[in-house]
Amino acid sequence: VSLSDLATHAQTLSLRGVQHTFAANQVVKGVDLDIAPGEVVCLLGPSGCGKTTLLRIAAGLEVLQKGEVSLEGVSIATPGKRHVPPEKRNVGLAFQDSALFPHLSVLENVAFGLKHLPSQQRRERAVELLTQLGMRDYVDTYPHMLSGGQQQRVALARALAPRPRLMLLDEPFSSLDARLRDRIRDDTLHVLKKLGSATLLVTHDPEEAMFMADRIALMRDGKIIQTGTPRELYCAPSDPFVVTFFGDVNELNGTVKGGKVQTPLGVVDASWLPEGSDAHIMIRPEALRIQARDLPAEAHSHSHVVMAKLLGRTSLIHLCAHGEGGLEAHLHARVPGVFLPQEGQPIDIDLDHSQVFVFPSSAH
Ligand code: ATP
Repeated sequence: VSLSDLATHAQTLSLRGVQHTFAANQVVKGVDLDIAPGEVVCLLGPSGCGKTTLLRIAAGLEVLQKGEVSLEGVSIATPGKRHVPPEKRNVGLAFQDSALFPHLSVLENVAFGLKHLPSQQRRERAVELLTQLGMRDYVDTYPHMLSGGQQQRVALARALAPRPRLMLLDEPFSSLDARLRDRIRDDTLHVLKKLGSATLLVTHDPEEAMFMADRIALMRDGKIIQTGTPRELYCAPSDPFVVTFFGDVNELNGTVKGGKVQTPLGVVDASWLPEGSDAHIMIRPEALRIQARDLPAEAHSHSHVVMAKLLGRTSLIHLCAHGEGGLEAHLHARVPGVFLPQEGQPIDIDLDHSQVFVFPSSAH
């Protein structure tokens, strides 16, 4: 057994060089991804980037065209061949539109995959999961009597009941309303961690991915752009796309001089870029710290507020920043909601450099 075999064996799921084409449309363009036992990995990306297709390949629902899929170190699919059929993989599936069995009660739906257990135990395990997902009161109900969100929770419980070594979840919370979603995410994460199932979860929602994931794989146009912990993607984005995917940003351009770029907010370190090259600077609205300043009204050449809106927890502030050498920029800041300055208010701006990202201009 070689070292690389051992490394693969430690992974619950390994995808290697996976490619997929529908007609002439290549939607997965060479993806490598590993999921360790007990780990939750979120496949995050905009609509149409190939997330669902990749999940369906991992599940064996899509015949593999190129690459390899391994489960616990055993190759389960190579191009054109499924060595292990989907139903024999001990993989739990819950998809956005997972249909429940209409003629079975909620309890029977969840107990369906537990035929190997004595009936008392089947019932107990199904009731336990339904309780954990807030569906205890519906055990004897039939699917057509449930709301979309309730059906989704039953589908999740059904997928989790056999305690699969791998869970594949495609937008499993999409039918839940915002308030319930937070709770069910929390409950689901708790169950997943308790069972120790490795999980691949597809979502287009960055906040959901950050909440659920040990690691996020961010996809664009059939490729994984960056894989890492939520903190790594948020705080050390490898590409401008990663920055913009997690929220709106201010963008400035400048030239690297002496390893720095001069901006209306002061100098920004760009020492890793070639001297004289063009830099693309991305600044999160939260990076701007604003302080009102007592200045006479004629000081309008100082940084000032253009517009301020209270949005609840935060305020959005459009501002005009004036820097050294007559540099000027219109930017937006997001500050705690209690701070709501007047239009025209002179301000001092402090920059939190940990939320400023510098890329070569061509990377944009
Ligand atoms: P969403 O978040 O909108 O579900 P996604 O990232 O999951 O998007 P996929 O569903 O994997 O994306 O689709 C990727 C691309 O492949 C899309 O352009 C889609 O139209 C195309 N596609 C998906 N399934 C098929 C199919 N069975 N036949 C032809 N094209 C398909």
